[in-house]
Amino acid sequence: MATKTLEDIPGVGPAIAEKLRESGYTEIMAIAVASPKELAETCELGEKKAMDIIEGAKLCADIGGFETGEDILERRKTVTKLTTGSKAFDELLAGGLESQSIVELFGEFGSCKTQVCFQLAVNATLPEEMGGLDSDVIIIDSENTFRPERIIQMATYLGVDPDVTLRRIHVARAFNSQHQVLLVDKAMEMAQDIKCRLMIVDSLTSHFRAEYVGRGALAERQQILNRHMHDLLNFATVNNAVIAVTNQVAAKPDAFFGDPTRPIGGHIVGHTATFRIYLRKGKAGKRIARLIDSPNLPEGEAVFMVTEDGIKDA
Ligand code: ADP
Ligand code: MG
Repeated sequence: MATKTLEDIPGVGPAIAEKLRESGYTEIMAIAVASPKELAETCELGEKKAMDIIEGAKLCADIGGFETGEDILERRKTVTKLTTGSKAFDELLAGGLESQSIVELFGEFGSCKTQVCFQLAVNATLPEEMGGLDSDVIIIDSENTFRPERIIQMATYLGVDPDVTLRRIHVARAFNSQHQVLLVDKAMEMAQDIKCRLMIVDSLTSHFRAEYVGRGALAERQQILNRHMHDLLNFATVNNAVIAVTNQVAAKPDAFFGDPTRPIGGHIVGHTATFRIYLRKGKAGKRIARLIDSPNLPEGEAVFMVTEDGIKDA
C-alpha cells in the first residue's frame, strides 16, 4: 500500500505540510479528526483554510468500510494453512499457520524463533498437498541471521531441490526501522509479479527497540510500529499470505512493562498479531510452543525439536 503523505491532501503544499508537521500533525488521520479552531490556532492558518484542509484530509484518510459477515466468511474460505514441520505444533494451531494472519513468535534469545522461520520458509515453497503454500517467500532480516546453509539442510531432508528452494526465497536485510517499514512497500510491489504467500520479519522489533530508547520515545515508537503492523496485515489480506514475525522477550524490564517475560512492542504488537506463540527451551533439547492468544483456538502447548534436518516432533 503506497502510504499517503500530507502533501496528498488537496490544498496542502510543501509549506503548509511543514507547518502541520512542525505542529505535530504528522498523520492524515490526525488532521481528519482535528477541530478547525484547534488546527487554525496551532498552525497559524485562517479558520476557513483549516476547515478545507480537514475536509481534504477526511477524503484522503484511509478509513476503510464495512463488510458483511458473509463477505468475510467468503474470504475466510480461501484461508490455507502452512505446516511447521511438527505434527504437535500444527495441531496446536489447528493445522498450521493461517494465511491472512500475522503470527508472532516470541521468546528469549536462542529459543529457536529463527529456526522456526527457516522451516516455514522451506515449507512454504512445498506444494499444498505437503502442507506448503506452493509459493515464493519474502524474508525481512533485521538481525543478519539468515543462513542459506540451513535452508539447504532442511530442503535436502524433505527431498526437494535445495537450489530451487533457495531461488524462491527472497531476503532483504533491514538496516534500521525506517528501512524495515519501507521494505514492506517493496514487498507489496514484488508480490504483484511473483506469488508470495509467506512473509517473515525476523526480528520485528529489534531495530525499534534499539532506536527508540526511553520513555520519551515510546509514543513515537508505538505509532510507527502500529503502522508497520497494519501494512503487514494488509499484505496478508491482499496476498492471502501468512505473516510470521519474531519478537524477543525483554531481558531487562521494558520501559513499558516491568515484567521481563513480556514480549516487547507492548499492546501494539500484541493486539495486531492474530496468533501469539511463546517459544521456550524444554529439557533434553526439546522446545515448547505455547499458544497465548488466538481469536478462535484454545490456549495450549506443543513440544517439538530442532535438529539438523529441521523442525520435528519430539
Ligand atoms: P532465536 O532466533 O530464538 O534467538 P535461533 O532460532 O537462532 O534462536 O535458535 C538457535 C538454536 O537453534 C541453537 O541454540 C541450536 O539449538 C539450534 N540450531 C541451530 N542450528 C542447528 C542445527 N544445524 N542443528 C540443530 N540445531 C540447531
Ligand atoms: Mg533469531
